[in-house]
Order: sequence, then C-alpha cells, then structure tokens
Amino acid sequence: MPVDLIVKNATLQDGSTGIDIACSNGMIVAVEPNIDAEAGEIIDASGRLVVPPFVDAHWHLDAALLHGDPYVCETGLLYEGINAWLELKAEATVASYKERMRQALAWAVANGLLHIRCQTDICDLQLRQVQALVELRDELRDLIDLQLVAFPQDGYLRDPNARSLMTRALDMGLDVVGGIPDYELTAEIGFESVKQLCELANERNLMVDMHVDQTPDPNSRQIEAVAHQAIRLGMGARVSASHCVSMKNFADYYADKLIAQIAQAEMNVCVQPMTAATCWGVMTRVNELYDAGVNVAFGQDSVMDPWFPFGKCDMLDVAHMAIVYGRLMSEKKKARVFDSITYGGARALQVEGYGIANNMNADMVVLQAADPMEAIRIRATRLAVIRRGKVIARQNEQRASVMLGDRTIEIDFTREGVKRSGGLSVQRAGCGHGH
Ligand SMILES: [Zn+2]
Repeated sequence: MPVDLIVKNATLQDGSTGIDIACSNGMIVAVEPNIDAEAGEIIDASGRLVVPPFVDAHWHLDAALLHGDPYVCETGLLYEGINAWLELKAEATVASYKERMRQALAWAVANGLLHIRCQTDICDLQLRQVQALVELRDELRDLIDLQLVAFPQDGYLRDPNARSLMTRALDMGLDVVGGIPDYELTAEIGFESVKQLCELANERNLMVDMHVDQTPDPNSRQIEAVAHQAIRLGMGARVSASHCVSMKNFADYYADKLIAQIAQAEMNVCVQPMTAATCWGVMTRVNELYDAGVNVAFGQDSVMDPWFPFGKCDMLDVAHMAIVYGRLMSEKKKARVFDSITYGGARALQVEGYGIANNMNADMVVLQAADPMEAIRIRATRLAVIRRGKVIARQNEQRASVMLGDRTIEIDFTREGVKRSGGLSVQRAGCGHGH
C-alpha cells in the first residue's frame, strides 16, 4: 500500500539500526527494517539518529529575546532579572510579545523542539502575555505544541490581583496552574499558596507546575508541600515541581526521605540546568531522582532574557549542561538525560501520540549524528524536522574544509567522519613520510 513518507535507514534512540519509518495521514504506520512500499517522499537517514521531537518542560517564552531590554542585568541573579522584567512588562504590547515569541519559536522548530511548556506571566492587569500566547498557540498549532502555564510571577497571595487574574487567565484557555511560593512573603504563606493552587488545578482537572525552592538555602522546603498536595489530592503525574534547587543542599537523610515521597507521589521534577548554573550555582539532585525512578524533564527556562544571555532554543544544549554541570557521567545516566529531553518531557507534559512507534503521530527529527551522545556532544545539525508526516524545517549538513598546509581535509565533527577521512593522526603520519 502506498504511503506518504518513508524515513529510511534510521538509528533509533534505543540503539536499533537499519530501521525504516513509514508515515501516512500524519501517523506512523510501520517501524521496521526494509519497508518496501511506494512513498510520496523518501528521506534517507543514512544510518543517522532519528528521534521524536524534543520537549522543553519549562521556558519563559514571554521573556525570550529580551536580553538587554530595558537594560543589561549586571549580576545575572534572579531578583535583578525580575526587576528588569517588571519594567519591561509595563511597556510591551500584545503585538510586540507575539513578534518576539514567533521569532524564538522559529528557532525552536528549526531545532526540532516541538513541545513546549511555557510559563506565562499572568500578573499583568491587561493579561497581555496571556493574550499573545493564546493567539500564538492557535496560529502555530500545525507546527508546534505550546502548553501554557498560568504563572503568577508576582506571587499568588502576595499580589492582591493575582487570584482574579489567575481565574481570568484559566478562563482564557491556559492549560496548567503555576505558582511561585518562593516569592510569597513567608514560608507559611508559600505553603498556603501551594495548597490553594493545587486545589484549584484539581477542581478544574488541570495539571500543576510550580516554581519551588529557587534558592540554594536548605531551609527552603516547598517541594515537600507540593509532594504532599500531589499525594493528598491524588494528582500524581499531573503535578510537576520546577527548579527544586535547595534539594541539592538538604542533608542526605532528609533528601532520601523527600525523594522517596516524590517517587511515591509519581510527580515530575522539571530541572533548568542553565539557570541552575548561573542564578544559583547549584542544580537539584538529578542523579538521585533518576535512581529513585522519578520522571525528570528539562527546560531551557531562559533564552536571551533578563536572566540568561545565551541560548538558541536547542534542547541538546540543555542536555549537555545537565550532564556536565550535574556530573551525570555514567553511560546509563547520560542516556537518561537524552530520554528526559524526549520521552521524559513528553510524560511530564502528558503529550499524546508521542514516540517512534506504530499509531503515533508522524513527528520526528533526523540528526547529523550516529547516536544520542554524539548528538549532544556536537549539538548535531537537525537535517530534517518532520511534523505529521511533513517536513517543516531543513538544514544542510554541517561540513568544514580545513586547509592543513598543502592539504585540505573535510570534517563534520562526527566519529564516522573521522573514520571516513582515515583519521587525522594517520594522515599526518603519511604526510611525515613524504618529507
Ligand atoms: Zn521558571
């Protein structure tokens, strides 16, 4: 039977090689070697890695690309960034938000990042960010899935308007209830905000994603309250806790008990390696969370915004930082990190139809790399990004010609490329004999 598209000779994330993936009507209809069917289009992966789209579980898209506007933050610390953001919010319009975010999302699509949980600031009386993101979510629906968190940046109980704004934002169609107990005036009020927000989400049958413990201070224990509410309300996998920075500095006895509680709750932990490194110099206990079987997802958090001047919407960058900064160096843990930017993220966001398998959405990314670790090492070029069986972004293979004395060698930074060229050291030895 003819199909719309076949991606031939793929290597999958689990290491299986020589796989063909056939797609019809936006769905994957076969995943097996040597599919012999007529196809509208054939993409030859030539043994390269093909994975489902990347997932960003935590990004402040509404602040993206605003670095230096209205001023460059000198300290790179959380609260200076929040102050810059407050000034900026006063000036921005729905149109200006949309224009910037559209640009950032084009970068995301080019990098195969097609599922994003966006923290959407709702503490604006005109709800401009909410309006802009709801419109953009619809406009770009065919390209990218935006899951919108109603995020009360100025504190759900601290900002006198936040509760009514939360209701309005959720009524406008936001998908997830957010919170920021750190920013409440006392720890107790923070706990109360967690309780109220989890109950609100449960009433509306929505997911929860809470900013917690954005501090290295081990006295900050908001994560415990989130796990408690997830268990008490039976919300399980619908709950995510983001950041959880202080966990790194908890005494081991307490951390062990807490992590067991997080595992029992079956909730997700969303980690932001970039801002963990720059804002706090501490990242949460990803290693131990993996060992306890907790689902960990990663997020960019910031891309060229008041909190972080770098980034280009590439989850491979985030994975690299997670491994290096979190010292997740065993083969198993490195593979878990790649899983977290694909399947783990999809699980946290409860994405349906996700994965390279029969009857899943025909969404995938062809990378110029042989395997996940090579993809992370070289932030491999996304040769093709496919959504519902159609190519929505392409990039040329990355190659460079290097003039070494009177010889030119062609490189692409991959191991396969090193083998193909005979290896640099072998060439040099041959060269030496000639003199
Ligand atoms: Zn955040």
